[in-house]
Amino acid sequence: MTIDLDDLVQAMTAWRRDLHAHPEFGFEEQRTSAFVAARLREFGLDEVVTGVGGTGVVGTLKRGGGNRAIALRADMDALRIPEQGEAPYRSQNAGVMHACGHDGHTAMLLGAAKLLAAEGGFDGTVRFIFQPAEEWGRGALAMIDDGVLERFPFEEIYGLHNAPGLAIGAFQSRPGAIMSAEDNFEIVLRGVGGHAARPHVGKETLVAACALVMGLQTIVSRRLSPAEIAVVSVTELITDGTRNALPGEARILGDARSFSPAVSSEIEQQMRVIAEGIARAYHVEQTVNYTREFVPLLNDPALTQEALSVAQGLFGADSVSVAPEPFTGSEDFARFLGHVPGCFAFLGNGDSAPLHNPRYDFDDAGLIHGARFHAGIVRRRLPAA
Ligand SMILES: [Zn+2]
Ligand SMILES: [Zn+2]
Repeated sequence: MTIDLDDLVQAMTAWRRDLHAHPEFGFEEQRTSAFVAARLREFGLDEVVTGVGGTGVVGTLKRGGGNRAIALRADMDALRIPEQGEAPYRSQNAGVMHACGHDGHTAMLLGAAKLLAAEGGFDGTVRFIFQPAEEWGRGALAMIDDGVLERFPFEEIYGLHNAPGLAIGAFQSRPGAIMSAEDNFEIVLRGVGGHAARPHVGKETLVAACALVMGLQTIVSRRLSPAEIAVVSVTELITDGTRNALPGEARILGDARSFSPAVSSEIEQQMRVIAEGIARAYHVEQTVNYTREFVPLLNDPALTQEALSVAQGLFGADSVSVAPEPFTGSEDFARFLGHVPGCFAFLGNGDSAPLHNPRYDFDDAGLIHGARFHAGIVRRRLPAA
């Protein structure tokens, strides 16, 4: 049975706006996952399993006798941002909004499921993975910990993210590193606070903290190879001092980005060396808490060529490009690529407000391109006999 693409666009637009009006924060996607599961069951998938890694959903569609399986992934979560847009379908959940377009990603993957369930055109198994909590960087891991790779095995995985600033219908990816790791750190300095007029009596922490903030800048500029891309950003400096009292405690928080585990661990190691040295020089105590929130997103080169070639066939060569350099944003999709090769790509969202902006809105004109890419990569990688 052939699907009328205009009908599909209408259906995806209605789903997207429904999801947009009812955004849910990471791991709270109860309504969203019920909505997704209900649609997948309507399309007649072979199996729909909910509650994978919390609120995740996995749909399975089989055609022919092929024993290869590939996965397509969308994210479902929204952000704690009060929406400022005025669309009739604006958020009805105060303080939460789909400011990253995951409503669109979910709708386009549902569209692909409907298309593939109705039309087939492939031989093998497709896993439709709807993951929770992408923004936390925890949802993919929760699904993996819940056995998604063993319970619903697949050999390749593909995912899309909308990109404001890229034209509608434009498609972009990159072999190898495309998005960065995100590490967070908190350094606490502890000394002895006291009177602002008598610094020499105590062990105040603010001057030490300032020295440390400057010292951290040398990790990228003096410790890492100039050929590596990395960022170390101090984003907060909080003390317990007041107008006439020196602080006994200072906390330095920040965020580091890199594109390889080796660089990430070098940043952590150097941070510990610098914190220890500066604390000793200023006679204060220090602790460093360094956590890894997102791992770098590393696209498989051969499968990225396949994705680019499918997109060229669908959207025309002029609409498809290779990103000249990786982005320093992060994506939870990277966790899947730690186990299975695949490709993550960007789809134009036109000149919309930026991601995570209170006026951002996914452009429904992109839905059909996403659905067609998902269906196209399935048909390329699981060709019908
Ligand atoms: Zn986001
Ligand atoms: Zn996102």
